[in-house]
Parts: sequence; structure tokens; C-alpha cells
Amino acid sequence: MKPKTSQSKITRRQQFKLFLSIMAAFAILFLTLGIIIFNLFQSSTYRSIDKDIRNQVVSIQKQPNMAKKKLTPDPHDPNRFDDQNKKPDPKTPFQASILVFDSSGKLLNKSSLGNRYSVLKHINLNKDNVNVKQTLVVKNMNFRSILIKVSKKNNNPMYAGNYVLIMQNIDTQIQAIDNFKKILIITFFLFWVIALLISYILARINMLPIVKSWKQQTEFVNDAAHELRTPLTIIQGKLEYMLTKPNQTILDEAEAISVSLDEVNRLNSLTNNLLVLARSDSATTKYNFELTKPEFFLKDPIEPFKDIINSQSKVFQINLNSHPTLNLDRDKIKQLLIILLDNATKYTPKNGTIKIYDQVEGSKYQFIISDTGVGVPDDEKNKIFGRFYRVDKSRNTNSGGHGLGLAIAKQIVGLHHGHIFVRDNLPHGSEFVVELPIKH
Ligand code: ADP
Repeated sequence: MKPKTSQSKITRRQQFKLFLSIMAAFAILFLTLGIIIFNLFQSSTYRSIDKDIRNQVVSIQKQPNMAKKKLTPDPHDPNRFDDQNKKPDPKTPFQASILVFDSSGKLLNKSSLGNRYSVLKHINLNKDNVNVKQTLVVKNMNFRSILIKVSKKNNNPMYAGNYVLIMQNIDTQIQAIDNFKKILIITFFLFWVIALLISYILARINMLPIVKSWKQQTEFVNDAAHELRTPLTIIQGKLEYMLTKPNQTILDEAEAISVSLDEVNRLNSLTNNLLVLARSDSATTKYNFELTKPEFFLKDPIEPFKDIINSQSKVFQINLNSHPTLNLDRDKIKQLLIILLDNATKYTPKNGTIKIYDQVEGSKYQFIISDTGVGVPDDEKNKIFGRFYRVDKSRNTNSGGHGLGLAIAKQIVGLHHGHIFVRDNLPHGSEFVVELPIKH
């Protein structure tokens, strides 16, 4: 239990780390996006206000020569500027105000300001700010403004030689920017919460294959250690027993020696099989694929089995009639045949029949090894291809299996992009079907 809990702890920690990093990535993304969008919105708003102000500056500096058409105003008339200013410039935006100061800072167009005067009277002339765009706050009202010095040659005597402060009320725009900011924050917060959920699900999904392969690896190592321990314990026992009888001859201890040798053989085949699986897992096995036909990769390798099977008083039938071309590694297929024929022989009693036959199914070539042996129960049909899986452990210990043969067989077939499965051979026994793609 202990390793499991520590493993799940590490898995949870890893999953949490993954979750945190995905979450942080989303947060950085949303924040950057938010700042960029907000700045773009803000600067485009200010740009359009500044454009309006610039248009007014231009229209003031290039006043039409209408003043000349009129009579020159009486320089003593205090309303001389107000009268001219009563006709608003059509280009002047609704929220804009124009303040005209003389060089001493006196406001010259009071009356044209109407009720706006009560607010605007608080503004003083600051000659340092000539041609500087700035945002002024007067009595809680926000204005975008620019102060210009109009040349004495200007055709409009109201402006000529004076300072003109063009002000545009930007309260609506500031309100719009504030609202936009609020909406942006709420939207991004909502999306960030959704992103949190997605991060959590993603972290879980990403961890699944890692957890699975980790589990498989641990199980594999545990099973391998267990399988290695049994023969080693037997050998150790036999050797210790022989040590207690130093005067006995080899002949006297022939049984102990032969049992030990059997176990050494088992160890040998087990370590070979483990090596095959480990090499395949780490993709270090080299494959020699070639175009070939069943007469070469099936008929030739099964020849020696005829004698072996017959010597065990079992019948071996060969019925191979198809001739498709396949792309495969003959050595690996030979290994696969040995595993399947060896199993068929192991699990079929005397006088039983082992048969190999083939058929073409669409674009697939199938060769089938059938036997009249003990068969495989339905609920074990998939499991037997797992590593170290044995249907009946006691039965297989006698027959010398470790439950690795079919795992290797499945791996070989998989690397050939094929499929292997077992089905019942009626009335009794089993059929192992190997399906491989035909090369057209
Ligand atoms: P083993 O070395 O134990 O034979 P395998 O991986 O080759 O390992 O087979 C796994 C298990 O599948 C076997 O232990 C056995 O129970 C079952 N099995 C394999 N081939 C046959 C067969 N031809 N008939 C019945 N059972 C089989």
C-alpha cells in the first residue's frame, strides 16, 4: 500500500504543478491581452479627441477673411469679440469651448461662454503651456485642451495676437473608458475562471497516460522481481542443501543439480524475454522489414515443429494456401510462430491436434494457429496478452511459462501494424488469429 500512496502523492503534486503552470500561462495571456485592448481603446479615444482639437487649431489659424469684409470693429467696444464669436464655427464640436486671453491673461470672450463661464472662469492663462496638449480638470469636469498663440496677422481680430485655449469636454469619453475597463475586468475574470476549469481538466487528461505507464512500469518491475525470486530461491535452497553434504558425489546429488539447472534455464529464458520487452519498449530493437510471402515466413520456420509435435503424440496439420505479399521482419515473425506453436503444444494434451491455416480477408492476411487443448475462458481472452498474465498459475509453473510469451507476441504483431486475438476452437481448444496488412 505504501508505494501506492506515495506514488499517488507524487502524481497529485505533479498534477497540481501542471495545473498551476497552465493557470499562470492563462493569467499572463489574459492580462497581456487586457492591457493591450485597454490601451488601444484608450489611445484611439484620445486620438479622436486630439484630432478634433487639431482641426480647431487649424481652423482658428486659417480664419477666413470674413473680418475684412466686415467693418473694422470699434476697438473701444467691449463686446467686439463676443459679437464675432456668436457665430460658432461649424467645425467646432458640441462639447468644445474656446477661451481667448490677451497677453496679460484677461479672458476676452466671457459672454460667448454663456453658463459655461461659471466653470471656465477658474482657468488661468499659463503661457508655458503653449502648443502642449493636456488634460485639465476643472470643478470635476475633464477637458482635453491646447493653448495656442495666434499670430497678429490672423484675419479674425478676436484671435489676432491673443492666446486661444481650445478645450474639449471629455467626461463622456472618460466615462466610456471607465465602463470599458470595468467590463474588461469582469469579462477577463470570468474567462479566467473558465480557464481554471479547463486547466484542471487538461492537467488531469495530460497526467493520465503518464500515470498509466508509471503504473504499468511499477507492476512490470514488481512482477519481474517476483518471477526472478522463485527460481533463485530454489537454486539457493538446493545449493545450501548440497553444502551440508560435502562428502556426497555429484551422482548422489544429481536430482538437486538437475533441479537447479532447470531453474537456471528458466531464469535464462525469463531474462531473455524481459530483455526483448524492455528493448521493444525503449525502441532500441532493430527491425529488418522486407517484402515476402507466406511460403517463406511461415512454411520454412514451422518445418521443425512437425517433428517436435509428432514426437509428443500430437497431430500437426498445415493448410497454407494464400500467396499475398507482406512487408515484415521474418525473424520477428519466426519468434511469434515459436511462441504460438509452443503454447499450442504446451496446452494441448496427447492425441490432440494442432493446425495452422491461412486466409485473406480484404486487405488483411490472417494465419491461424488452432489447437484442441484446454482453451481460454472468455473473460481471460484479452488478459492473456498482458505481461506476466497466466490463466492458471499452478498449471503454468509446471509447463515452465512466465506469462510473457503472448505479451511479446502482441508487441511483435503491433509493430507490424497487425492485430492478434484468441477465439474458441469448437468443440474445444483455442485459435490464435494473427492479422497482418497486405502490401499492395
Ligand atoms: P506462458 O509462458 O505462461 O505460456 P503466455 O504469455 O505465452 O505465457 O501465455 C499466457 C497464458 O495464456 C498462459 O499462461 C495460458 O494460460 C494461456 N494460453 C496461451 N496459449 C494458450 C493455448 N494455446 N491454449 C490455452 N491457453 C493458452
